[in-house]
Amino acid sequence: MKPQNLRIPGPTPCPPEVLEAMGRQMFNHRGPEFRELLKDVTLRLKDAFRTQHDVLIFPSSGTGGWEAMLTNSLSPGDRVLAVSIGVFGDRFADAARAFGADVVRLDVEWGKAADPSDVEARLKADPSIRAVLITFNETSTGVTNPLKEVGEVVSRYGPLLLVDAVSGLGALPFEMDAWGIDSATTGSQKAWMIPPGMMMVGVGARIWEAVKTARMPRYYFDFENARHFLEEWETPYTPALPQLVALQVALHMMEKEGWESIFRRHRALGAATREGLKAMGIRLYADEAHASDTVTAAWIPEGVDAKRLIGIMRDKHNVIIAGGMGKTKGQVFRIGHMGWVFLPDITDTLAALEAALQELGVAVSKGEGVAAAEAAYKRVMEGGGR
Ligand SMILES: *Cc1c(COP(=O)(O)O)cnc(C)c1O
Repeated sequence: MKPQNLRIPGPTPCPPEVLEAMGRQMFNHRGPEFRELLKDVTLRLKDAFRTQHDVLIFPSSGTGGWEAMLTNSLSPGDRVLAVSIGVFGDRFADAARAFGADVVRLDVEWGKAADPSDVEARLKADPSIRAVLITFNETSTGVTNPLKEVGEVVSRYGPLLLVDAVSGLGALPFEMDAWGIDSATTGSQKAWMIPPGMMMVGVGARIWEAVKTARMPRYYFDFENARHFLEEWETPYTPALPQLVALQVALHMMEKEGWESIFRRHRALGAATREGLKAMGIRLYADEAHASDTVTAAWIPEGVDAKRLIGIMRDKHNVIIAGGMGKTKGQVFRIGHMGWVFLPDITDTLAALEAALQELGVAVSKGEGVAAAEAAYKRVMEGGGR
């Protein structure tokens, strides 16, 4: 059988160069070789986050990044506005509540993006809001929030802006400093082309101020402690050495491709996936004006059992797609296209989907999805818009 086409929105496939680098022998994390590595990766990450401030790296999945941002900047009882457009936004709000924040919510209909003017109305009405929590790219619904515009609004009112950028950073244009983002986190297993196990978090100047009075309990993810060790290019506790070695290789690959090229490739992959699905008569879940270029969610066609569709894709075609999350479980499927992904990965997925749907008795015209995907990809790569 052909190699597996892993099309879930994380963990994502890793380039062979990355996997090879990870196979090396362990080394001393208090030695000169490690300090060189951490310095190199940290400086490159600052460039990727587009920040003059700090980027800290911790062993953890992405969720640990929320905990780190929250506990280092807030105190129990602080009011936070949690903007949720899906499952990850809900969980980010839950994490804030777990640490004692007074969470007020702005819930957006699933499939849609947050409207910056709604955020503004909430901030205007309640000056006690200390922080705004938002998901950059909502992986459960396949929607990207207009973060730049949200950042402009939040900057005007003054609360901290804490961003879950887990499934967007490294694939979509992102400007931590210019968009007024105080802290943003991402996870190794998403656009970074390396295995799970590490989160990276950008820490802006206002967080370094806030941390002095923030009383939420924290220990492992203490930013001041991490910064203290980073002065010597070390980490307080044992780092995820294989992931760091992998990230160095991946960042070199990404810089070689160039950030603008990476963004364009993802834009083209997003367009290819959406146009391909539409040409097959499949309805997209997300509002197309804010559709994500790293993950696409679509409705399971009428009368089709989600588990069977996903199972046939896996067992007969070796293509692994994801189901729905939360209330869309059983109704939606999702295709990941972030990181080490190229057009043939998408056309292979669409061809497998076509065959699986035919097997399930759905009428799909042959080859139309693939043809539409190829045309959309070409159009974006040759300079068209979305
Ligand atoms: C993957 C993801 C996370 C983090 O999930 P982990 O399993 O903890 O890595 C958080 N937010 C979004 C939007 C994600 O896609």
